[in-house]
Amino acid sequence: MDEISAAQIEALHAQLLELVEQLQATLDSTRDAARPVELDQTTMGRVSRIDAIQQQKMIEASRRNQTVRLRQARAALARIADDEYGDCLKCDEPIGTARLTARPESPFCVACQGRAEKTR
Ligand SMILES: [Zn+2]
Repeated sequence: MDEISAAQIEALHAQLLELVEQLQATLDSTRDAARPVELDQTTMGRVSRIDAIQQQKMIEASRRNQTVRLRQARAALARIADDEYGDCLKCDEPIGTARLTARPESPFCVACQGRAEKTR
C-alpha cells in the first residue's frame, strides 16, 4: 500500500474537522429523540406506540455508531498532530489512501478491520 503524502494528510485533516463538527451537530440534535419516549396509552394507538419505540431504537443505534465515529475522528486528528497518521494501529502498515479518503477516521487497515469484525 502507498504511503500517504503531506498534501493528502492536509486534505484529510480538513475532512476530519468537518466530520467531527457534523457528527457533533447530529448527536446534539438527536439527543432528545433518543430519550425514552413517553408512551401515553390513552392518546396513542398501539401501532403508533410500536412506531415510536422502533424509531427510538433506530436513533439509538445510529447515535452509538456516530459516537464511535466521533471518537475515532478525534483520535485520528490527534494522530495527525503527533505525525502518526496513516498507519494501522494494529499492524503498523499504511492504511492506504483510498480507504482513508473514504473513511479518514479509520484506525485500522482493511485486513485488520476485517479480522476485528469477524471475531466480534
Ligand atoms: Zn492493519
